[in-house]
Amino acid sequence: MKTIIEPFRIKSVEPIRFTTKEEREKILEDAGHNPFLIHADDVLIDLLTDSGTSAMSASQWAGVMEGDESYAGSKSFYKFESAVKKITGHEFIIPTHQGRASEKILFTILGGQGKFIPNNTHFDTTRANVEFTGAEAVDLLNEIGKKPEVKADFKGNMDIEKLEEFINNVGKENIPLVMITVTNNSGGGQPVSMQNIKDVRAVCNKYNLPLFLDACRFAENAYFIKKRENGYDEKSVLEICQEMFSYADGATMSAKKDALVNIGGFLSLNNEELATQCRNLLIVTEGFPTYGGLSGRDLEAVARGLEEVVDEHYLQYRIRSTEYLGEKLVNAGVPIIEPPGGHAIYIDAKRFLPNVQPHEYPGQAIVCELYLEGGIRSVEIGSVMFGKYGKDGKLVSPNMELVRLAIPRRVYTQSHIDYVAEVVIDVFNNREKLKGYKIIYEAPMLRHFTAKFQKL
Ligand SMILES: *Cc1c(COP(=O)(O)O)cnc(C)c1O
Repeated sequence: MKTIIEPFRIKSVEPIRFTTKEEREKILEDAGHNPFLIHADDVLIDLLTDSGTSAMSASQWAGVMEGDESYAGSKSFYKFESAVKKITGHEFIIPTHQGRASEKILFTILGGQGKFIPNNTHFDTTRANVEFTGAEAVDLLNEIGKKPEVKADFKGNMDIEKLEEFINNVGKENIPLVMITVTNNSGGGQPVSMQNIKDVRAVCNKYNLPLFLDACRFAENAYFIKKRENGYDEKSVLEICQEMFSYADGATMSAKKDALVNIGGFLSLNNEELATQCRNLLIVTEGFPTYGGLSGRDLEAVARGLEEVVDEHYLQYRIRSTEYLGEKLVNAGVPIIEPPGGHAIYIDAKRFLPNVQPHEYPGQAIVCELYLEGGIRSVEIGSVMFGKYGKDGKLVSPNMELVRLAIPRRVYTQSHIDYVAEVVIDVFNNREKLKGYKIIYEAPMLRHFTAKFQKL
């Protein structure tokens, strides 16, 4: 097997800015040791997120020029609609400005007090939009998906028994829809098998419930199915995507992920009455149904991105480059969630820094050190992001303390990834000298965005 290469050549480049360690010390100090508050220009390799950070292709940029900005009935909308229909097979396609706008519309109509939405794992905006309506967001992930050190092919699968038990407990009349998130972002970007999607569909059929996909990383999920699930190696990724969506009555999508654009999203549906309700709400909150919250050029770029993302050379490179970084870290003894998911590597900060307690924010210590040592920006997903205070004022920590290295699509080359691995391994080998942090300022909600820290 020869080296898997980037399946593109580069015709436009964006310089990245180098800083010295002394400069980074000052920058980090001024940002209160919170990389969210650092200017992007002071970051060398930005692994904060894979959302909206893709490099667009020459064809997408050409599409930007060709975008039709007509208010109603834009040519670009029809291209967008047909690209989404080709993949989802769904009948009604509603453009939105990003994933959470689709969620907001769907749950405003279907959510509400006394309702329950089961999911393998709700992404945080999905949970927020469900809870905002007064409904309850319930995660029913398979047990194996909760174990960072256990290797398995489909750690994003929903627990089918728990789903059926849950439906019987709360009553099917209180469940407006069941959701599956592919891949499972909050659970490490782990894929869901076709069998699991079929099994969830069978349960939904039994209780007459609609099934929706949170489809942000549908192409990455389909590629994992092709590589790991029996009977799919001869099928094309497009066929696998079409089969995945065929079991769903609708989907919410952030085009900032697997549509390879910087902004965009959609809601797809088969139920005409529901689609009409969604469109009516769309007009109030997003815009006319042939543009949603987008311009014609955005619609054009999404249409082309959806064709490019199912290219198997692209997906092979995409999944392999994430796995490649994971492999390098594992070989050096760095503890990560295994096996690597599609879009990111998650460092297990508890095993990386066993002597720094959760209330001293081990993930934050690693995040700061990666920036200091190598100008790399990552994000803590642990007690800073999800920690809550109990009645006694003590911090209640989530199960896992993680640091996410998200890989933007088509942006960095193998040497960038080699460099990232070198920096992480260096920090790991010098981990004894790392200290924890305390929070000296925090907002009442979503504190990780603006909190300020002090080194202990
Ligand atoms: C990003 C994401 C969303 C929300 O999409 P935005 O475009 O950021 O609003 C929803 N679900 C999942 C799984 C995501 O990864």
